[in-house]
Amino acid sequence: MSKLAIITLPDPLLRAASAPVERVDDEVRRLADDMLETMYEAPGIGLAAVQVAVPRRLLVLDVAEKENQEPSPIVMINPEIIKLGDTRVPYEEGCLSIPDVRVEIERPSTLTVRFIDRNGREQQLDAAGLLATAIQHELDHLDGRLIIDFMSRLKRDIVIRKFKKLARLDSSA
Ligand code: ZN
Repeated sequence: MSKLAIITLPDPLLRAASAPVERVDDEVRRLADDMLETMYEAPGIGLAAVQVAVPRRLLVLDVAEKENQEPSPIVMINPEIIKLGDTRVPYEEGCLSIPDVRVEIERPSTLTVRFIDRNGREQQLDAAGLLATAIQHELDHLDGRLIIDFMSRLKRDIVIRKFKKLARLDSSA
């Protein structure tokens, strides 16, 4: 396995819609393994393929560490939320592609998601709490949506300006 580079704001790829994965083969499995390693090392609880510059509908998750359980990596290929709960809860979310920014976002606290697993089999999962939040956050990435989109326009512009400035400083260094 190898660690991949995580792209950050204002990389335009973060705004791209990811394309479905057509076939679950060794290449896809290798990408999923590399994404998991990258996520654990960051550290984070979820990562979408587009965040490592591969705009395909693939994401990895593991919320176990935050909840003090044994590691339980989840790989979701072509995930689709088929049911959202009625209760919404606020959670302060961060994003590996937008370091040091946290946004309080209210999302449904439960959901049902359908996806293809790493063996190419269709799965359905009922999720609640942090896992439900993480799934919705990562699924947003597949459609080019970011946590800053939940901010007021004024605050969002300030964050974007800050990251554009950082990128300029980086490239001139
Ligand atoms: Zn994110």
